[in-house]
Amino acid sequence: MAAPNIDTIVSLAKRRGFVFPSSDIYGGLGSSWDYGPLGVELCNNVKQSWWRWLVYERDDIEGIDSSIILNRMVWKYSGHEDTFHDPLVDCRECKSRLRADKLQVSSGETVTAGADVAAMIRQKQVKCPNCGSTDLTDPRPFNMMFRTTLGAVADEDDPTALAYLRPETAQGIFINFVNVQTAMRRKIPFGIAQIGKSFRNEITPGNFILRTREFEQMEMEYFVHPDVEHLQLVDEWVEQYVEWFTTLGLERVNLRLREVPPEELAHYSKRTVDIMYRYFPERAEEERQWEELMGIAYRTDFDLRSHSNKPVDDEGKRINPDSTEDLSYFDEATKQRFYPHVIEPAAGVNRTVLAVLMDAYSEKKNDKGETRVILKLRPRLAPIKAAILPLAKNKPEIVGMAKAIKRSLQPVLRAVYDDTGGIGKLYARQDEIGTPFCVTVDHQSLEDEAVTVRDRDTWEQERVKVADLAEHLQMRLKE
Ligand code: ATP
Repeated sequence: MAAPNIDTIVSLAKRRGFVFPSSDIYGGLGSSWDYGPLGVELCNNVKQSWWRWLVYERDDIEGIDSSIILNRMVWKYSGHEDTFHDPLVDCRECKSRLRADKLQVSSGETVTAGADVAAMIRQKQVKCPNCGSTDLTDPRPFNMMFRTTLGAVADEDDPTALAYLRPETAQGIFINFVNVQTAMRRKIPFGIAQIGKSFRNEITPGNFILRTREFEQMEMEYFVHPDVEHLQLVDEWVEQYVEWFTTLGLERVNLRLREVPPEELAHYSKRTVDIMYRYFPERAEEERQWEELMGIAYRTDFDLRSHSNKPVDDEGKRINPDSTEDLSYFDEATKQRFYPHVIEPAAGVNRTVLAVLMDAYSEKKNDKGETRVILKLRPRLAPIKAAILPLAKNKPEIVGMAKAIKRSLQPVLRAVYDDTGGIGKLYARQDEIGTPFCVTVDHQSLEDEAVTVRDRDTWEQERVKVADLAEHLQMRLKE
């Protein structure tokens, strides 16, 4: 079973310290969220899992960490200044600001891709989702990049000081292509991976951590020869990511592929396939249950070429007079120089975390018929791997032994000590946050140097010698 809806996860996440509404004491800040003690661990475990999978386990990918604020020229030549727009519509009735391509037709469905929304608005075929009015303005482009100014400028609008917070991590990779390739002596095909925050001034953020203005991406640019079968490579990466998501615990039935139609493709893309997750299982209409988890795009040589100083237009004029570098690649084998083409799998940390939480959610009845929540996270993603619990907290020997076990486990796995309730309550709390094992120290432990290890999913218990505990848990955590 998975969570019945996102709201179930919102309340669990707040109650148990995964995710809190940000700036709550000042009334919040338009769908911003803060990650609590367990949320930060879960995010880190997802990111580590991705990094290990791509950068460590493969031989053809390097990692980098580029700046969030880049020279403004990066965004000029990447095309973001001119084209990174969403269509904005105002409701004249309730003054809501809406995304034209996400509006609902009067019959209830979302506007279909490529539809002439302006005409539909004029014909009163679409309505405001907040007040139902059909009195909407024509759509106009709204650039989603956050602006800032660099240095001690006198004038906020000084164009020489204008800078942006990056709306994607990818450009930091492209501008470092030659640096990485030469420093690491790489031959294509090879990839560069990066994890980091991105910022988009979304018109309508919402649905918890699904769409926020500040979020984290895990992007990888895979550089290949211009002559390979790019469209087929997209399929290969889609397959590998679907496989990776299932290793994170996502059920295949909750994942779906979507070939992005040509009219929706980003300016740099020749083909994009989105991997969608069933974030809205409660919606009756199957088509409306899905939202993008990640996208895999074939970006051609668009970015490397447009950041390079060599290419010229039909009249022989340099297309990019601001760049000082040529980001081409020399192929020793064929003695050819060219701009490598790029396949880009771009995933979101936050959307992955939400999918992982939703898929891990389950409920089970105990002996008394009470419903218990169990978060069946894959052990390597669980924020806490083992909770060490004393059966009697007023017995100093038992407490001492439990704390010593916690300390001895800490160097090999994340363990916590907890004595803030009766054992039933402590078990329930650990089940709800996805801790795979509870280790209970009881009176008998003082005699036989053994403890009880309880499994989160089966609630079965077994007796394990303290001397063998670390190895026992490590082995089972690999399952
Ligand atoms: P959408 O169509 O949902 O706005 P997108 O197609 O613009 O997303 P990409 O540019 O492909 O998104 O970004 C890659 C990934 O980054 C997305 O698949 C998603 O996981 C994540 N992402 C993008 N925008 C946001 C956001 N506002 N909040 C959270 N994650 C995001």
